[in-house]
Amino acid sequence: MPRPSALAGVDAFPRVRLGHLPTPLEPAPQLGAALGVDLWIKRDDCTGLAFGGNKVRQLEFYLGEAQAQGADTVLITGAVQSNFVRVAAAGARALGMDIHIQLEERVDDGDALYRLSGNVLLDRLLGARLHSFPVGEDEAAADAALERLARSLEREGRRPYVVHLGIDHAPIGGLGYVLAAGEVMEQARSRGIALDALVCASGSALTHAGILVGMRSSGETVPVHGICVRRVASRQRARVERRATELAAMIGRAGLIRDHDVDVCDAVHAPGYGKVNEAVGEAMSMAARLEGLLLDPVYTGKVMAGLVAQVRSGRIEAGSRVLFVHSGGTPALFGYAHRLEPWLSPAP
Ligand SMILES: *Cc1c(COP(=O)(O)O)cnc(C)c1O
Repeated sequence: MPRPSALAGVDAFPRVRLGHLPTPLEPAPQLGAALGVDLWIKRDDCTGLAFGGNKVRQLEFYLGEAQAQGADTVLITGAVQSNFVRVAAAGARALGMDIHIQLEERVDDGDALYRLSGNVLLDRLLGARLHSFPVGEDEAAADAALERLARSLEREGRRPYVVHLGIDHAPIGGLGYVLAAGEVMEQARSRGIALDALVCASGSALTHAGILVGMRSSGETVPVHGICVRRVASRQRARVERRATELAAMIGRAGLIRDHDVDVCDAVHAPGYGKVNEAVGEAMSMAARLEGLLLDPVYTGKVMAGLVAQVRSGRIEAGSRVLFVHSGGTPALFGYAHRLEPWLSPAP
Protein backbone atom coordinates (compact mmCIF):
# COMPACT_ATOMS: atom_id res chain seq x y z
CA MET A 1 0.00 0.00 0.00
CA PRO A 2 1.46 3.39 -0.90
CA ARG A 3 1.56 5.80 2.04
CA PRO A 4 -0.96 8.64 1.90
CA SER A 5 0.84 11.78 0.79
CA ALA A 6 0.48 15.34 2.07
CA LEU A 7 1.32 16.59 -1.42
CA ALA A 8 -2.21 16.37 -2.75
CA GLY A 9 -3.51 18.57 0.08
CA VAL A 10 -0.69 21.09 -0.26
CA ASP A 11 -1.04 21.32 -4.03
CA ALA A 12 -4.39 23.06 -3.62
CA PHE A 13 -2.60 26.21 -2.35
CA PRO A 14 -0.90 28.71 -4.66
CA ARG A 15 2.87 28.59 -4.46
CA VAL A 16 5.67 30.49 -6.13
CA ARG A 17 9.14 28.94 -6.38
CA LEU A 18 11.72 31.04 -4.57
CA GLY A 19 14.09 28.58 -2.91
CA HIS A 20 17.00 26.42 -3.97
CA LEU A 21 15.43 23.09 -3.11
CA PRO A 22 16.05 20.41 -2.01
CA THR A 23 18.57 21.66 0.55
CA PRO A 24 21.46 19.35 1.53
CA LEU A 25 21.33 16.79 4.33
CA GLU A 26 24.80 16.58 5.89
CA PRO A 27 26.50 14.69 8.71
CA ALA A 28 28.21 16.63 11.52
CA PRO A 29 30.59 14.00 12.93
CA GLN A 30 32.79 16.11 15.23
CA LEU A 31 29.93 18.08 16.75
CA GLY A 32 27.88 14.90 17.05
CA ALA A 33 30.73 13.15 18.90
CA ALA A 34 30.98 16.08 21.31
CA LEU A 35 27.22 15.96 21.95
CA GLY A 36 27.07 12.14 22.18
CA VAL A 37 24.69 11.62 19.24
CA ASP A 38 24.88 10.70 15.53
CA LEU A 39 24.16 14.21 14.28
CA TRP A 40 22.77 15.17 10.86
CA ILE A 41 21.98 18.67 9.67
CA LYS A 42 19.17 19.67 7.29
CA ARG A 43 20.75 22.73 5.68
CA ASP A 44 17.76 25.03 5.36
CA ASP A 45 20.17 27.90 5.85
CA CYS A 46 20.96 27.08 2.21
CA THR A 47 17.52 27.78 0.71
CA GLY A 48 19.20 30.44 -1.40
CA LEU A 49 17.16 33.62 -1.64
CA ALA A 50 19.03 36.57 -0.01
CA PHE A 51 21.00 34.35 2.43
CA GLY A 52 18.14 31.86 2.76
CA GLY A 53 16.68 30.29 5.89
CA ASN A 54 13.34 28.70 6.77
CA LYS A 55 11.27 31.74 5.76
CA VAL A 56 11.99 31.05 2.08
CA ARG A 57 9.88 27.88 2.21
CA GLN A 58 7.13 29.72 4.13
CA LEU A 59 7.09 32.69 1.76
CA GLU A 60 6.68 30.45 -1.28
CA PHE A 61 3.10 30.08 -0.05
CA TYR A 62 2.45 33.63 1.22
CA LEU A 63 3.82 35.23 -1.93
CA GLY A 64 2.10 32.58 -4.03
CA GLU A 65 -1.16 33.82 -2.52
CA ALA A 66 -0.09 37.46 -3.01
CA GLN A 67 0.59 36.80 -6.68
CA ALA A 68 -2.68 34.90 -7.10
CA GLN A 69 -4.51 37.94 -5.67
CA GLY A 70 -2.75 40.30 -8.06
CA ALA A 71 -0.91 42.16 -5.30
CA ASP A 72 1.80 44.68 -6.15
CA THR A 73 3.00 45.52 -2.62
CA VAL A 74 3.90 43.23 0.30
CA LEU A 75 3.60 44.29 3.96
CA ILE A 76 5.21 42.39 6.83
CA THR A 77 6.10 42.94 10.49
CA GLY A 78 8.92 41.52 12.64
CA ALA A 79 11.70 42.12 15.15
CA VAL A 80 14.46 44.57 14.18
CA GLN A 81 16.78 41.67 13.25
CA SER A 82 13.96 39.62 11.68
CA ASN A 83 14.95 37.12 9.03
CA PHE A 84 11.35 36.82 7.89
CA VAL A 85 11.11 40.44 6.79
CA ARG A 86 14.50 40.29 5.04
CA VAL A 87 13.49 37.26 2.99
CA ALA A 88 10.04 38.75 2.33
CA ALA A 89 11.74 41.85 0.93
CA ALA A 90 13.91 39.75 -1.37
CA GLY A 91 10.96 37.58 -2.42
CA ALA A 92 8.82 40.62 -3.17
CA ARG A 93 11.62 42.10 -5.27
CA ALA A 94 12.13 38.80 -7.10
CA LEU A 95 8.46 38.98 -8.09
CA GLY A 96 8.61 42.65 -9.06
CA MET A 97 6.66 43.92 -6.04
CA ASP A 98 7.15 46.75 -3.55
CA ILE A 99 7.84 45.98 0.10
CA HIS A 100 6.94 47.69 3.39
CA ILE A 101 8.46 46.40 6.62
CA GLN A 102 7.31 47.22 10.14
CA LEU A 103 10.09 46.68 12.69
CA GLU A 104 8.99 45.95 16.27
CA GLU A 105 10.96 46.74 19.42
CA ARG A 106 11.14 43.21 20.81
CA VAL A 107 14.67 43.05 22.11
CA ASP A 108 15.23 46.51 23.63
CA ASP A 109 18.74 46.85 22.29
CA GLY A 110 20.16 50.26 21.51
CA ASP A 111 23.37 48.78 20.08
CA ALA A 112 24.23 50.45 16.78
CA LEU A 113 25.11 47.19 15.03
CA TYR A 114 21.85 45.60 16.19
CA ARG A 115 19.89 48.50 14.74
CA LEU A 116 21.76 48.94 11.46
CA SER A 117 23.81 45.88 10.50
CA GLY A 118 22.77 42.30 9.73
CA ASN A 119 19.23 41.97 8.47
CA VAL A 120 18.53 45.73 8.68
CA LEU A 121 21.35 46.45 6.25
CA LEU A 122 19.87 43.91 3.84
CA ASP A 123 16.31 45.26 4.24
CA ARG A 124 17.59 48.69 3.27
CA LEU A 125 19.72 47.40 0.38
CA LEU A 126 16.58 45.72 -0.93
CA GLY A 127 14.94 49.15 -0.83
CA ALA A 128 12.24 48.21 1.67
CA ARG A 129 10.20 51.04 3.18
CA LEU A 130 10.84 50.72 6.92
CA HIS A 131 8.28 51.66 9.58
CA SER A 132 8.82 51.32 13.29
CA PHE A 133 6.39 49.90 15.82
CA PRO A 134 7.04 50.58 19.50
CA VAL A 135 5.64 47.35 20.96
CA GLY A 136 7.28 43.95 20.60
CA GLU A 137 4.90 41.51 22.24
CA ASP A 138 1.48 42.24 20.78
CA GLU A 139 1.04 40.35 17.52
CA ALA A 140 -2.58 41.40 17.04
CA ALA A 141 -1.68 45.08 17.44
CA ALA A 142 1.27 44.70 15.04
CA ASP A 143 -1.04 43.11 12.46
CA ALA A 144 -3.63 45.85 12.99
CA ALA A 145 -1.01 48.53 12.34
CA LEU A 146 -0.05 46.75 9.10
CA GLU A 147 -3.72 46.63 8.10
CA ARG A 148 -3.99 50.40 8.60
CA LEU A 149 -0.94 50.89 6.41
CA ALA A 150 -2.45 48.56 3.80
CA ARG A 151 -5.70 50.58 3.74
CA SER A 152 -3.78 53.82 3.21
CA LEU A 153 -1.78 52.23 0.37
CA GLU A 154 -5.08 51.12 -1.18
CA ARG A 155 -6.29 54.70 -1.13
CA GLU A 156 -3.17 55.54 -3.17
CA GLY A 157 -4.18 52.92 -5.72
CA ARG A 158 -1.85 50.13 -4.59
CA ARG A 159 -2.80 46.45 -4.24
CA PRO A 160 -1.30 45.44 -0.89
CA TYR A 161 -0.84 41.93 0.49
CA VAL A 162 -0.27 41.57 4.24
CA VAL A 163 1.80 38.70 5.65
CA HIS A 164 0.14 38.37 9.06
CA LEU A 165 1.93 37.32 12.20
CA GLY A 166 -1.00 36.75 14.53
CA ILE A 167 -2.66 33.50 15.50
CA ASP A 168 -5.99 34.54 14.00
CA HIS A 169 -4.73 34.14 10.44
CA ALA A 170 -4.30 30.83 8.61
CA PRO A 171 -0.78 29.35 8.99
CA ILE A 172 -0.20 29.00 5.26
CA GLY A 173 3.58 29.37 5.57
CA GLY A 174 3.58 26.09 7.48
CA LEU A 175 2.74 24.30 4.23
CA GLY A 176 6.35 24.86 3.20
CA TYR A 177 7.43 22.70 6.12
CA VAL A 178 4.83 20.04 5.43
CA LEU A 179 6.69 19.64 2.13
CA ALA A 180 10.12 19.94 3.78
CA ALA A 181 9.30 16.97 6.03
CA GLY A 182 8.68 14.86 2.95
CA GLU A 183 11.87 16.16 1.37
CA VAL A 184 14.10 15.25 4.29
CA MET A 185 12.54 11.82 4.86
CA GLU A 186 13.06 11.03 1.19
CA GLN A 187 16.73 12.05 1.50
CA ALA A 188 17.15 10.00 4.67
CA ARG A 189 15.43 6.94 3.18
CA SER A 190 17.44 7.00 -0.03
CA ARG A 191 20.67 7.11 1.99
CA GLY A 192 19.61 4.48 4.50
CA ILE A 193 19.56 6.90 7.46
CA ALA A 194 16.94 5.92 10.04
CA LEU A 195 16.27 8.98 12.19
CA ASP A 196 15.48 8.59 15.91
CA ALA A 197 14.63 12.24 16.61
CA LEU A 198 14.30 15.59 14.96
CA VAL A 199 15.06 18.97 16.56
CA CYS A 200 13.87 22.33 15.25
CA ALA A 201 13.09 25.86 16.40
CA SER A 202 9.61 26.61 17.70
CA GLY A 203 8.78 30.33 17.30
CA SER A 204 5.68 31.25 15.28
CA ALA A 205 5.44 27.43 15.27
CA LEU A 206 4.92 27.22 11.52
CA THR A 207 8.19 25.32 11.05
CA HIS A 208 7.57 23.01 14.00
CA ALA A 209 3.89 22.38 13.23
CA GLY A 210 4.58 22.03 9.50
CA ILE A 211 7.25 19.39 10.05
CA LEU A 212 5.04 17.53 12.50
CA VAL A 213 2.09 17.47 10.11
CA GLY A 214 4.34 16.52 7.19
CA MET A 215 5.82 13.63 9.14
CA ARG A 216 2.56 12.26 10.54
CA SER A 217 0.71 12.66 7.24
CA SER A 218 3.13 10.23 5.65
CA GLY A 219 3.02 7.81 8.57
CA GLU A 220 6.37 8.84 10.12
CA THR A 221 6.33 8.53 13.91
CA VAL A 222 9.77 10.09 14.57
CA PRO A 223 9.63 12.45 17.60
CA VAL A 224 9.84 16.15 16.68
CA HIS A 225 11.41 18.24 19.47
CA GLY A 226 10.59 21.94 19.23
CA ILE A 227 12.98 24.25 21.07
CA CYS A 228 11.26 27.40 22.37
CA VAL A 229 12.78 30.60 21.01
CA ARG A 230 9.89 33.00 21.53
CA ARG A 231 7.80 32.06 24.58
CA VAL A 232 7.81 29.59 27.46
CA ALA A 233 6.83 25.96 26.93
CA SER A 234 3.30 26.11 28.36
CA ARG A 235 2.30 28.89 25.96
CA GLN A 236 4.28 27.47 23.06
CA ARG A 237 2.70 24.03 23.38
CA ALA A 238 -0.78 25.53 22.92
CA ARG A 239 0.45 27.45 19.89
CA VAL A 240 2.00 24.39 18.22
CA GLU A 241 -1.10 22.28 18.90
CA ARG A 242 -3.32 24.93 17.34
CA ARG A 243 -1.10 25.48 14.31
CA ALA A 244 -0.64 21.74 13.71
CA THR A 245 -4.39 21.14 14.01
CA GLU A 246 -5.09 23.93 11.53
CA LEU A 247 -2.44 22.75 9.05
CA ALA A 248 -3.68 19.17 9.18
CA ALA A 249 -7.20 20.40 8.43
CA MET A 250 -5.92 22.58 5.58
CA ILE A 251 -4.46 19.54 3.81
CA GLY A 252 -7.58 17.47 4.42
CA ARG A 253 -6.21 15.43 7.32
CA ALA A 254 -8.20 16.76 10.29
CA GLY A 255 -7.53 14.83 13.49
CA LEU A 256 -4.03 13.80 12.37
CA ILE A 257 -2.14 15.38 15.28
CA ARG A 258 -2.58 14.15 18.85
CA ASP A 259 -1.49 15.93 22.00
CA HIS A 260 1.40 13.54 22.63
CA ASP A 261 2.89 14.45 19.22
CA VAL A 262 3.69 17.95 20.46
CA ASP A 263 7.00 18.21 22.31
CA VAL A 264 8.40 21.59 23.36
CA CYS A 265 11.46 22.42 25.47
CA ASP A 266 12.24 25.81 26.99
CA ALA A 267 15.31 24.80 29.01
CA VAL A 268 17.48 27.40 27.22
CA HIS A 269 14.86 30.07 26.45
CA ALA A 270 15.66 32.53 29.28
CA PRO A 271 16.16 35.47 29.38
CA GLY A 272 13.86 35.63 26.34
CA TYR A 273 13.48 36.20 22.63
CA GLY A 274 16.60 37.36 20.85
CA LYS A 275 18.75 37.42 23.98
CA VAL A 276 22.03 35.52 24.02
CA ASN A 277 22.71 33.32 27.04
CA GLU A 278 25.74 31.26 28.06
CA ALA A 279 24.38 27.98 26.63
CA VAL A 280 23.65 29.62 23.26
CA GLY A 281 27.10 31.21 22.97
CA GLU A 282 28.66 27.88 23.90
CA ALA A 283 26.61 25.97 21.29
CA MET A 284 27.42 28.50 18.56
CA SER A 285 31.10 28.31 19.43
CA MET A 286 31.11 24.48 19.36
CA ALA A 287 29.34 24.29 15.97
CA ALA A 288 31.75 26.82 14.47
CA ARG A 289 34.96 25.38 15.90
CA LEU A 290 34.16 21.68 15.54
CA GLU A 291 32.29 21.72 12.26
CA GLY A 292 32.78 25.06 10.47
CA LEU A 293 29.03 25.44 10.88
CA LEU A 294 27.63 28.92 11.53
CA LEU A 295 24.60 29.19 13.80
CA ASP A 296 22.77 32.38 14.76
CA PRO A 297 22.19 33.79 18.26
CA VAL A 298 18.37 34.14 18.08
CA TYR A 299 17.25 30.78 16.71
CA THR A 300 19.64 28.05 15.63
CA GLY A 301 22.17 28.67 18.42
CA LYS A 302 19.30 28.30 20.88
CA VAL A 303 18.10 25.14 19.15
CA MET A 304 21.57 23.58 19.33
CA ALA A 305 21.76 24.52 23.02
CA GLY A 306 18.32 22.96 23.41
CA LEU A 307 19.55 19.76 21.78
CA VAL A 308 22.42 19.66 24.29
CA ALA A 309 19.87 20.07 27.10
CA GLN A 310 17.62 17.32 25.70
CA VAL A 311 20.54 14.87 25.54
CA ARG A 312 21.66 15.82 29.02
CA SER A 313 18.16 15.27 30.44
CA GLY A 314 17.78 11.97 28.60
CA ARG A 315 14.77 13.12 26.56
CA ILE A 316 16.97 12.43 23.55
CA GLU A 317 18.90 9.23 24.13
CA ALA A 318 22.69 9.30 23.93
CA GLY A 319 23.92 7.61 20.75
CA SER A 320 20.69 8.18 18.85
CA ARG A 321 20.51 9.51 15.31
CA VAL A 322 19.33 13.11 15.46
CA LEU A 323 18.36 15.50 12.69
CA PHE A 324 18.97 19.18 13.45
CA VAL A 325 17.01 21.55 11.23
CA HIS A 326 19.30 24.50 10.47
CA SER A 327 16.70 27.16 9.82
CA GLY A 328 19.16 29.92 8.81
CA GLY A 329 19.35 33.32 10.46
CA THR A 330 23.06 33.78 9.92
CA PRO A 331 22.84 37.44 8.72
CA ALA A 332 21.79 38.33 12.29
CA LEU A 333 25.32 37.39 13.39
CA PHE A 334 26.52 40.79 12.20
CA GLY A 335 23.84 42.59 14.17
CA TYR A 336 24.89 40.73 17.32
CA ALA A 337 28.66 41.16 16.92
CA HIS A 338 29.11 42.96 20.25
CA ARG A 339 26.98 40.43 22.16
CA LEU A 340 29.08 37.54 20.84
CA GLU A 341 32.45 38.89 22.00
CA PRO A 342 32.88 36.34 24.86
CA TRP A 343 32.93 33.47 22.36
CA LEU A 344 35.25 34.99 19.77
CA SER A 345 38.98 34.42 19.57
CA PRO A 346 41.02 37.56 20.37
CA ALA A 347 40.90 40.41 17.85
CA PRO A 348 44.21 40.95 15.99
C1 LIG B 1 11.74 32.58 12.09
C2 LIG B 1 12.89 31.69 12.36
C3 LIG B 1 12.74 30.52 13.10
C4 LIG B 1 11.44 30.14 13.75
O1 LIG B 1 10.58 29.56 12.83
P1 LIG B 1 9.01 29.62 13.07
O2 LIG B 1 8.45 28.98 11.85
O3 LIG B 1 8.63 31.07 13.21
O4 LIG B 1 8.71 28.89 14.33
C5 LIG B 1 13.83 29.69 13.26
N1 LIG B 1 15.02 30.00 12.73
C6 LIG B 1 15.21 31.12 12.03
C7 LIG B 1 16.57 31.41 11.52
C8 LIG B 1 14.16 32.00 11.81
O5 LIG B 1 14.37 33.11 11.10
